[in-house]
Amino acid sequence: MTHSNGANPSGIKKPALRVIPLGGLHEIGKNTCVFEYGDDIMLVDAGLAFPSDGMHGVNVVMPDTSYLKENQKRIRGMIVTHGHEDHIGGIAHHLKNFNIPVIHGPRLALAMLTGKMEEAGVMDRTILQTVAPRDVVKVGQHFSVEFIRNTHSMADSFSLAITSPVGTVIFTGDFKFDHTPVDGETFDMARLAHYGDQGVLCLFSDSTNAEVPGFCPPERSVFPCLDRHISQAEGRVIITTFASSIHRVSMILELALKNGRKVGLLGRSMLNVIAKARELGYMRAPDDLFVPIKQIRDLPDRETLLLMTGSQGEPLAALSRISRGEHPQVQVKSTDTIIFSASPIPGNTISVVNTIDRLMMQGAKVVYGKGEGIHVSGHGFQEDQKLMLALTKPKYFVPVHGEHRMLVAHSKTAQSMGIPADNILIIDNGDVVQLSPDSISKGDPVKAGIELLDASRNGIVDARVLKERQQLAEDGVITLLAVISTDGVMAAPPRVNIRGVVTTADARKLSMWAEREIGWVLENRWNQLCRNTGGKAPDVDWVGVQREVEVGLQRRLRRELQVEPLIICLVQPAPAGTPAYKGRADAEPDSRPAPRGRGGRDGGRDGGGRGRDGSVPAPQRQLATVGAAAAAATATPAAAATTVAVKTPAPAELEPEPAGRTRRRRSAAAVG
Ligand SMILES: [Zn+2]
Ligand SMILES: [Zn+2]
Repeated sequence: MTHSNGANPSGIKKPALRVIPLGGLHEIGKNTCVFEYGDDIMLVDAGLAFPSDGMHGVNVVMPDTSYLKENQKRIRGMIVTHGHEDHIGGIAHHLKNFNIPVIHGPRLALAMLTGKMEEAGVMDRTILQTVAPRDVVKVGQHFSVEFIRNTHSMADSFSLAITSPVGTVIFTGDFKFDHTPVDGETFDMARLAHYGDQGVLCLFSDSTNAEVPGFCPPERSVFPCLDRHISQAEGRVIITTFASSIHRVSMILELALKNGRKVGLLGRSMLNVIAKARELGYMRAPDDLFVPIKQIRDLPDRETLLLMTGSQGEPLAALSRISRGEHPQVQVKSTDTIIFSASPIPGNTISVVNTIDRLMMQGAKVVYGKGEGIHVSGHGFQEDQKLMLALTKPKYFVPVHGEHRMLVAHSKTAQSMGIPADNILIIDNGDVVQLSPDSISKGDPVKAGIELLDASRNGIVDARVLKERQQLAEDGVITLLAVISTDGVMAAPPRVNIRGVVTTADARKLSMWAEREIGWVLENRWNQLCRNTGGKAPDVDWVGVQREVEVGLQRRLRRELQVEPLIICLVQPAPAGTPAYKGRADAEPDSRPAPRGRGGRDGGRDGGGRGRDGSVPAPQRQLATVGAAAAAATATPAAAATTVAVKTPAPAELEPEPAGRTRRRRSAAAVG
């Protein structure tokens, strides 16, 4: 195809091709790319990412797909390049949220996707179309896509030639140039060169190893190294790798056969992927090579090889559980040889080295790390990337699939090959690449971000939940039980529980502070939180009472102890007329600063729900509104005086511990 200019015969300028990555940039993971021309939207891949530290209880990270939900009427179909989780892991989830009429992809990837879709119950939401090398599919009015066989750590992987009215885009997908692929399926470089000759408008290329000089070694190169370790092992061999590294797993099975070892498989994804790959003929191994894990213990150690998940130190994966002595079937033996045939994804390094330490401490020989030759990357190095640029000869270039420094390094490589810096765009998720036959530019970005899913993959962990979990993990939790009668009297001393809070204050001190907060709220807020005060059954906003106490105590802890634990206040209402708990005060003066309302319980206000330091904290805003009218009548300027918070302050000594237990029993009884 040639590109003369952007005008059609009638002289009207054609619209630009818009390419919008929603994930996969400035990160490794959740690759999701939108191609848009006129009224057509075509998706390329939809992956997931794994949570980083601090995302407690988050199982997977998805891109924000608001843009696709809003434009779902225009989605004509999806293209899948290969079956890695960072390319297909999001699809089943997205099918619950927006419509994708058809998905074209390689046989192995779609087989793996089928499993995920069945699990999610979305099999009827789309049509899956399997493609073979050099197949061309049409998507919508404007796109046609040729699948070009490439080589990668996953079998059945493709690069794409995407032809649109403004020109052809080569989208490499994940690749390296492996001239001796394990499955014999070589990179179809002739096809890349064909497009290069015809004229490629823009290349979108995998940047994962853009910082690494040289050529990526072929996958086959790990074979002799693995062979040496396996043949020399005196006892059991335990190997961990990515289940989806089909070629690696194939070689390990081949080596087990060669060395006379039976194979036991551990980990759900390992079992699933091997079953699928064998069923479809991507992996050849005799049935009797495999022995169920319960029976493999009856074989001599020298005749067994255990292949399992856990190469990334994932806490729930088989090898991690074994390292902690928590696996029901497998315990570490000092004669074991344990091989990590994978390198940690950035971010997983600490969990991986911790797992290695635990295994070594139990006496096992652990083989890991770069120098051993037991792992090679599935992504090309600088020379592979140069070869891609040389074959496709693109006019414009966009480095993708990588963190920022990788994108920058890849851009430098492209410049060294003669692509002008002006013809290269480094973009972020949500950026819009606008391509015309003679220009590349950034349009207004679309909404992009992340969506966090819990283990059920249905529950969305929103920012508030995540913040609470971080607070729990970092600062612990304080629970507080208050017994308050419906006529606004503290009927029992508050019961305080502290979990995971690093503090010099003990429960007694916290209990005293809590007492003051409750007293303060009863004194200064009760009328705002209590409607129908004249009636027999006053309508108390108990949630509001709880909030007020929580916010007050939170502020005090921040000020006095510089800690911010999560505070949970529960109020147990007691009937009207319950005698007031006499309160406990000690010599220590209340250091809480003004402003503060003054006067009787039904008297002064401090200005209607305003916080103690004058600000209106978010959870209190509603209360502030509710209280505003009542406050207007009686508002006083910020009072200078500081009222002691306890409603019925009485000088008393700090109770000794046994009395504390009595108190707890009493308040527990109030709950029951
Ligand atoms: Zn991949
Ligand atoms: Zn990838």
